[in-house]
Amino acid sequence: MADVAVYKSEVKPDWCPGCGDYGVLNSLQKACAELDLAPKDIMVVSGIGCSSNLPGFFNSYGMHTLHGRSIPVASGAKFGNHEMNVIVTGGDGDGYGIGVGHLIHAMRRNLKLTYIVMDNQIYGLTTGQTSPTSEKMTKTKSTPAGNLENQLNPIALALAAGASFVARGFSGEPAHLAEIYKKAIQHKGFAIVDVFSPCVTYNKTNTYPFFKERVYKLEDENHDTNNYEAAMKKAQEWGNRLPIGVFYANSDRPTYDESEPVLANGPLSKAAFKPLDPSILLEFV
Ligand code: SF4
Repeated sequence: MADVAVYKSEVKPDWCPGCGDYGVLNSLQKACAELDLAPKDIMVVSGIGCSSNLPGFFNSYGMHTLHGRSIPVASGAKFGNHEMNVIVTGGDGDGYGIGVGHLIHAMRRNLKLTYIVMDNQIYGLTTGQTSPTSEKMTKTKSTPAGNLENQLNPIALALAAGASFVARGFSGEPAHLAEIYKKAIQHKGFAIVDVFSPCVTYNKTNTYPFFKERVYKLEDENHDTNNYEAAMKKAQEWGNRLPIGVFYANSDRPTYDESEPVLANGPLSKAAFKPLDPSILLEFV
């Protein structure tokens, strides 16, 4: 097992004191240490938002990309070197708002990526507007009379879109979260982990006490992670009881990177350079 300190960068997190994202970062570092992954074998890619600053705080390859565009960049990295552990991180606004189109197609493709969403049910970086996972009638700066839109259900969305590993964690349960990350990183296929990660500054409803009163672990209720219908049923639970843990895991589906004939010969980053045959171009003239 590696030392957790190996994964800490020289840049200190700039999140507000008490932000849930600290738990997400610490648990991810713990999981990578317990899996003994070398930083050179990890790439962390993010979009834009408070949570998307995470790659700067993590010692590995990393890229802080555009709002909602982390998955296309991560997909390119994975195609270039599918031996790399590519971990995508971001928030609910980034992933379930502007980036949701990319997310759906990555899930149905089953590209082997680990996607961690720090879901605080609000836009934190822009000082507190309604996000896709804000509950209906939530009052925020952008919805002073209450949010009129239905709350997006990321777990049901992921299951419907074909993600082969679907889980939820809570940053107030860091040891449990690290275990979920370990399974997600080792999973063969697209793994999404939605994390209740409270924004202590702008979301005064979905707080640590709110989640602590409500979360329960799926494994404590003998949930069968191979059962798609059971997972979809659990995904509908929202209210006084909020399930965390692995909803669904299916390693039987082929991944996109192993199905693609060119990639099946090994990572592009290790392929021999072959100049393009100019006669091919003549076919298009
Ligand atoms: Fe975290 Fe909210 Fe502060 Fe952003 S504004 S760092 S999400 S507590």
